[in-house]
Amino acid sequence: MNHQFFENLLLSDSELTQVELTMLQEHLQTCEACRQFSNALEDVDHLFHNTPIASPAVGFTQRWQESVIQDNKKRQKRQIWLILIVGVCSISALFALLGFTILPVLISPIAVLWAELFNLVTWFSAVEWIVGVLLTMFRAAHSVVPTSLWIALSFAFMGLCAVWVVAFKQVTAPRRLVI
Ligand SMILES: [Zn+2]
Repeated sequence: MNHQFFENLLLSDSELTQVELTMLQEHLQTCEACRQFSNALEDVDHLFHNTPIASPAVGFTQRWQESVIQDNKKRQKRQIWLILIVGVCSISALFALLGFTILPVLISPIAVLWAELFNLVTWFSAVEWIVGVLLTMFRAAHSVVPTSLWIALSFAFMGLCAVWVVAFKQVTAPRRLVI
């Protein structure tokens, strides 16, 4: 007799047909193993239906929420520590690099300071001078020359440039030698 077939029928979730039910009942009357299996299944079913549903202990939701909040806090703390450590490491590295750069200053601070100061002063005075000259020229020109003349002068300047370019080309172009 095929026990597996009847076990499948017993375990089936869908409703059995009349034919299947009759076959199963006939088999159960003759087969001890399948009868035991059927009884065990009934016991389990009975147990499932008669066991009270375990409800969570009082305050479970609150405790669960609190544990989630605690977990989040822990994770945040860990992240803050990580950021701090990475930050401190980066800053240390930067300072180490800076240390190498300013090592000469530490060795002979006054000489380096004078050299830097000299550079700064020279640079500043040069820029100041150029800006001063340009400003003076611009102011003088602007107060003397009216706008229409400015436009005329610009065109004249462009024309001069064109003439200069043409002349330059003429002069530098290779010439035929006259013998
Ligand atoms: Zn059987």
